Amino acid sequence: KEELNMIEGALELRTKTVEDVMTPLKDCFMLSADAILDFNTMSMIMQSGYTRIPVYKNEQSNIVDILFVKDLAFVDPDDDMHLKTVTTFYNHPLHCVFNDTKLDAMLEEFKKGKSHLAIVQRVNNEGEGDPFYEVLGIITLEDIIEEIIKSE
Ligand code: ATP
Ligand code: ATP
Repeated sequence: KEELNMIEGALELRTKTVEDVMTPLKDCFMLSADAILDFNTMSMIMQSGYTRIPVYKNEQSNIVDILFVKDLAFVDPDDDMHLKTVTTFYNHPLHCVFNDTKLDAMLEEFKKGKSHLAIVQRVNNEGEGDPFYEVLGIITLEDIIEEIIKSE
């Protein structure tokens, strides 16, 4: 029954973590902070279909900004504007969470905040050097809702 599935899904929010349901970094559509907003790049963004796009510097694990597609409303592709100009102007806050955050806590955060996307990170202390924050992926409100309404 669908109702039972939903109750089951809701109960699982207490045990499942953001890492279980996130979109892994390798599957994320992202932009380099150095990108130029020319016709090619703008087309790629539109074709991706995503509303929020993480922006990285140098390497994909180093997310420094979020671009909202609606930020592009006043951008003319003929102007070859730097992506950085746009992200600096809007300056949306980055919302980071740890990989072991439970989905019920994440849902509460999403309900409170204005942002419905968070960067999932963990503390990596496996190597020789100092522990560091490692970005694993992104999670959105949609990922949690899917977890509740999934029908298996
Ligand atoms: P909205 O529905 O608010 O327009 P959206 O369709 O861009 O946003 P969501 O609905 O929040 O994205 O998420 C749908 C799925 O896509 C989720 O699994 C989410 O993790 C994933 N997702 C969101 N943004 C990206 C992105 N930039 N690259 C890859 N996956 C993404
Ligand atoms: P995003 O989350 O991508 O920023 P948004 O903020 O435009 O999108 P939603 O998050 O989907 O919109 O919806 C937020 C609230 O605003 C909902 O209650 C929705 O019904 C309402 N809403 C969305 N679009 C409109 C609109 N054009 N006019 C009035 N209310 C709207």
